[in-house]
Amino acid sequence: MKWKNKGHELDSYANNLLQMFHGKQRKIYIFGAGLIGTEIAQVFERYHCFAGYLDNDVQKQAAGKNGSRVISLEQYILEKAEGFIVIAADQKNIPKIEEQLVSEGLKEKEDFWKYQEFMNEVFPILSVYEFDVSYVDLVQICLTERCTLKCQDCAHGCFAVDSHSEDLSLETAKESADIFFSKVDVVKEFVLIGGEPFLYGELSEIISYIGEKYRNRIVCFSITTNGTILPEQEILELCQRYDMVIRISNYSNTLKYLKKKYEQLEKRLRDYHVSYVMGDCEIQWMDYGFQTVDRQQGDNLIQVFDKCKTPCREIRGNQYYYCVMARSVSDNLKMNIGKEDYLDFNDLAEDYKRVLLEFEKGYSEKGCLDMCAHCNGADAVNYVIPAAVQLNKQS
Ligand code: SF4
Ligand code: SF4
Repeated sequence: MKWKNKGHELDSYANNLLQMFHGKQRKIYIFGAGLIGTEIAQVFERYHCFAGYLDNDVQKQAAGKNGSRVISLEQYILEKAEGFIVIAADQKNIPKIEEQLVSEGLKEKEDFWKYQEFMNEVFPILSVYEFDVSYVDLVQICLTERCTLKCQDCAHGCFAVDSHSEDLSLETAKESADIFFSKVDVVKEFVLIGGEPFLYGELSEIISYIGEKYRNRIVCFSITTNGTILPEQEILELCQRYDMVIRISNYSNTLKYLKKKYEQLEKRLRDYHVSYVMGDCEIQWMDYGFQTVDRQQGDNLIQVFDKCKTPCREIRGNQYYYCVMARSVSDNLKMNIGKEDYLDFNDLAEDYKRVLLEFEKGYSEKGCLDMCAHCNGADAVNYVIPAAVQLNKQS
């Protein structure tokens, strides 16, 4: 979307939301006291608007969750409780819960939301307009483009990066964090990524730096790894100290030898009491087509961009990229496309919070990125390819 009324694009939608939110006593309930629910509860708790959980599980109702009350829907209705209800459940369970809520006369987008919609569409607006807190859902710092694997369809183009190529300097990595947190009050997930981030020589320094200065503004501080490297003791102790989560991409369907590596890594993480999430075994990827798609002039790139809604922002010095893939593929494949496609944090004025929120929602001067001309965008789901196939055919 192109900016037409910068800083006020969302005013009217926000005003409606605020009215509804005030009518609900500025409270949020989470339906589902599981993993998803507890994660987003941590966000709402920071705003003092979390009122408790609803859950159908009687055991959870009896035990409560992390010191919060867990009640049944019947109890919620009986108590005449008021609040936005956010359904935090697996995709397969959401329709059942929706049905329950509707059968009690509750309406979607007035009384309840599915968590993805709520976290993407509603909460960032409440954060800025109601609480005057700038909020970002997910941001990454790409520490290195080097990788231990050479996936031929890597969506960051890391297969083209030489193992001796230069990483992001520690100075720029620190500066990226400083600039980001000079404007952002709360981030739901702050991710250190690569390439393979455990290759980064100064990983302990950047973890300590961010952990010491900004951990209280980060809900989830994480590292995404392909699981091929066993991190050293120092790194693991820091991960434990700063309550980090290691997210392991699981390519063992294609690369069988990785199963053993994952077992070793999981054991090491458990030994050091470091939280981790082993990803589902990836069998297929979507092909973004960065090397093959070449849309013609006149094709509506704004439509491509608006449909895409990629969630992966990147901070790199003062440059805030809407799409980390577009930036990294352009750099790594030396395509030289979209060099100016970022929001410059140094250019943000005093009253920047609504502008930043609009950028997060997809507004910009151009309304799209140059790289969208070379990308399948949301249609990538229709171009399925096998996951993690290696250029040098490891298996
Ligand atoms: S492991 Fe990840 S970063 Fe490395 S080449 Fe494969 S997809 Fe790219
Ligand atoms: S369509 Fe544009 S924004 Fe979406 S993934 Fe492709 S390059 Fe990134």
